[in-house]
Amino acid sequence: MEFNLQRRDPQSGVASISRENLDPRQTALVIVDMWNWHWCKTSTQRVGSLVPRMAEVVARSREMGMTIFWCPSDVADNYVGTPAYEAAFNAPKRPLPALRKIECPPAPDGGGCTCGPERCQGNYGWDAMNPDLRVADTDLMPNDLETLYSICRERGITHLIYMGVHTQVCLLGKSIGLLNLSKAGFSCLLARDLTDAHGMYDPVKKITPDDFTARVVEHFEKYLAATINFAEDLRRAGRWQQARPVDPVRVTPWGVPARPHLFPKEITVTLTTPWQPQAEIHYTLDGSEPGLASARYTGPFQIRETTHLRAMAWQNGEPVCLPSEGFFARLPEAPPMPDIHLADLTPVRVAGPGHSPSSSDHRYSPVSSPPQKDRSNRQAGLRLRGQDYQRGMGVHAPNHLVYQVKPEYARFVALAGVDERILEINNGSNLAKYPSVVFKVILDGRCVAASPVMKISEVPWRFNVPIPPGSRQISLVATDAGDGNREDLANWVNAGFVGRR
Ligand SMILES: [Zn+2]
Repeated sequence: MEFNLQRRDPQSGVASISRENLDPRQTALVIVDMWNWHWCKTSTQRVGSLVPRMAEVVARSREMGMTIFWCPSDVADNYVGTPAYEAAFNAPKRPLPALRKIECPPAPDGGGCTCGPERCQGNYGWDAMNPDLRVADTDLMPNDLETLYSICRERGITHLIYMGVHTQVCLLGKSIGLLNLSKAGFSCLLARDLTDAHGMYDPVKKITPDDFTARVVEHFEKYLAATINFAEDLRRAGRWQQARPVDPVRVTPWGVPARPHLFPKEITVTLTTPWQPQAEIHYTLDGSEPGLASARYTGPFQIRETTHLRAMAWQNGEPVCLPSEGFFARLPEAPPMPDIHLADLTPVRVAGPGHSPSSSDHRYSPVSSPPQKDRSNRQAGLRLRGQDYQRGMGVHAPNHLVYQVKPEYARFVALAGVDERILEINNGSNLAKYPSVVFKVILDGRCVAASPVMKISEVPWRFNVPIPPGSRQISLVATDAGDGNREDLANWVNAGFVGRR
């Protein structure tokens, strides 16, 4: 298999291409950290956007007889018992050679979040690789340098083609990473069309995550490894299915219905197709299917409302990308503090998870308490997105708090979110994927305000709801968002009523 290897002069940055033939039997793919979720929402989409192209490349490489190494590090142990995991785990180990020294300046640092000014703070939930990647029984899943090294020596593998994420973090820093295996004496290449940097998005300075990734790839080409465009090389070798698009339009920033991108006033959305520079992107902002008649993307644009974006790309009337979606939720204006706090009032009804044999006898399930005044449902301080709150109600979804409306109440105000103290415990980041709550305010049977699905570490949702004169009762509801109520600790903080003035 012939590859075009791209390198750069460290001083001038000028690229040079050389052709090299690799024997597939002596070549392996090393696929790093293609998780099903990531702590950065936008990074999650960018990892996902590599998947269709990668799946194709992996299948073609396997056919040619290359060895496929899946190295999902954090989540590898969720694959115990699979042929790939067990074959690697049980492979005979060889002593490592003395590692070579490789001097290299530090790689560009993107700061850890690709979402732009409205940083996501921690979206827990990776527990496998992206489900559209297929691990074959003949593939291998080594999780440390010694295992990867030993299998390569056993099989006579001399060349490793790295792909996956994040280019300047895990591909460098992890024990199975490109740097370590280079030090161990292997010829390592980076597939630049199948990687993504730990990103940066700065719409003011006009830096897209694609630009930033290109910068990191250049750094590799100058100091660390030659890169290849794997799909292009396969195409030249007649091993690529030409017609089928494999790259979704990339949406920055990004969110899904269960974890929308929350923003206070406006955000700048960028759509890109880095591997189809000639593509015409069209998009809609109302959830309808985009077509050639939809708005044409000409550059970053502002969104000021809650929006369901859909995008597609064409070239000469033919689709050249896969469709994409993004979900954005605008936070209402920040509410004032209440004059009367909920915790100082007596609700006319409370109900929570458990069995209620009668309207007067409420039995809470063992993992939840009745609503707690000024503390979380686990009877610790209320905490949302790193901030402690003195006042509020800590409930466990599904929960119903019902209050009588007094004539002097003009507005209901609150911040609402999932309590964050679970992150303090040892395996908290594993549990933190579970909580998800939708908060609703119901006035005399009518839903007058609701949050999107709230996950842990989100910006708290804001309620500032007018109460028309003559209203009788208000129900504050925390639902389990439809996916069960495990760890659904829901906080209403700085919550209560603003009086008529
Ligand atoms: Zn992010």
